[in-house]
Amino acid sequence: MATLKAVRGTRDLLPPETELWNRVEATARSVFARYGFGEIRTPVFEATELFARGVGEETDIVSKEMYTWEDRGRADSDRGQSLTLRPENTAGVVRAYIEHKLGDTGMLQKLFYIGPQFRRERPQRGRYRQFWQIGAEVLGPAWSGSDSALRDAEVLEMLATFLNEVGVRGWQLALNSVGSSTDRPRYIAALREALEPVKSGMCENCQRRAETNPLRVLDCKEASDQATIDALPKIADYLDEESREHFAQVKAALDACGVAYVVEPRLVRGLDYYTRTTFEFTVPDGSGLGTQNALLGGGRYDGLSEMLGGPKAPGIGFAIGEDRLILTLQAQAGETAVKKLDAYIAPMGVEQNPAALALAQELRRAGLSIEVGDGSFRLKKSFDAADKLARKMVIVGENEVASGILTVKDFGAGEQSKVGRDELAATLRASSPELPDLP
Ligand code: AMP
Repeated sequence: MATLKAVRGTRDLLPPETELWNRVEATARSVFARYGFGEIRTPVFEATELFARGVGEETDIVSKEMYTWEDRGRADSDRGQSLTLRPENTAGVVRAYIEHKLGDTGMLQKLFYIGPQFRRERPQRGRYRQFWQIGAEVLGPAWSGSDSALRDAEVLEMLATFLNEVGVRGWQLALNSVGSSTDRPRYIAALREALEPVKSGMCENCQRRAETNPLRVLDCKEASDQATIDALPKIADYLDEESREHFAQVKAALDACGVAYVVEPRLVRGLDYYTRTTFEFTVPDGSGLGTQNALLGGGRYDGLSEMLGGPKAPGIGFAIGEDRLILTLQAQAGETAVKKLDAYIAPMGVEQNPAALALAQELRRAGLSIEVGDGSFRLKKSFDAADKLARKMVIVGENEVASGILTVKDFGAGEQSKVGRDELAATLRASSPELPDLP
């Protein structure tokens, strides 16, 4: 029979790597809590229409990357409908904001999420079909201050803090403003006009995008198109007074907080709902991501709630690619340090198994991390297993059980000593310094 494997573009995350994932998520939770964010968990699948309306029919995500199926109804009261595995989480969060009338509180909503997203992309390093995002959204009615430039700067400063705390080195923040919902159509019209005489000389993708979604031409990486793209009109010249002032305030607040950024006029991002501030954090070459060097992206989406049939609710958010963050940390920190267990308990003979398990129970209750061997192992096998897994080995033989004095082998110090059962937990703890945190 053919062996079954994880589906292309999906992968298993195994220990010890999952320890790093947990540390990243714990750091995110701790940083986000300091900024007043609470966790939201939305369903992994939603009505297809949510993404078609929210993310945009013309985007790559909706036009070719979604996992969509016709879900059959199970009863007359439960009609069939088109469902989609979420390709991103902002649309779901805004749907939940509308559904639960969170705006009625009049308070700013600060929500974060951690979870898998699904896109049918061509798999490569740093690009998977199931990948994880850690994201956050700040939204609310305008009177809650949700469209203030201070929010944009606060979110960016929080991201800088998170990346520093989690240990990413050399990150860069690229920043732009794509203007309001009135600036953008004027800019897009100008782009279309400027593309008309030059598009036939551009790559196939650009030719198509010039028609369907001219903003996406700015994302093109084709070397031969770069000079043409650089000569196209810049969004900065099409911002109205209000958008210009908003962007200036974002930059001033970032300067006040000492968060470095580079204004990148071509940064428009792939999703239709962005307005005004857009941003991306990248890492330098050699950080384990190859060409996929975008760690995270985000921006403001002042009209999204209305696009989904909700009340006016300006907002800003981001999504960190957790898979890419992990690859970066691994590349920048070198090999993941494996934390060893506090002790390995080796019963000498199967008849000592119950006593060994009872000792393990006692030590685990005392908060120590313990593995237990099996009495059928020869001493050499116990030593080898213990040395791989733990910092120390505790021998449980007939004499030890009778006397309550145990033999403890410390692999680091290369010493063996006798310890009374009463002092065992304290001894294992005292001589078990934590490995320094990664990286
Ligand atoms: P987006 O939702 O497209 O703005 O992406 C936000 C972040 O999610 C990106 O900067 C990536 O780090 C990450 N990301 C997007 N697509 C993938 C994917 N297919 N595999 C892994 N990470 C991804």
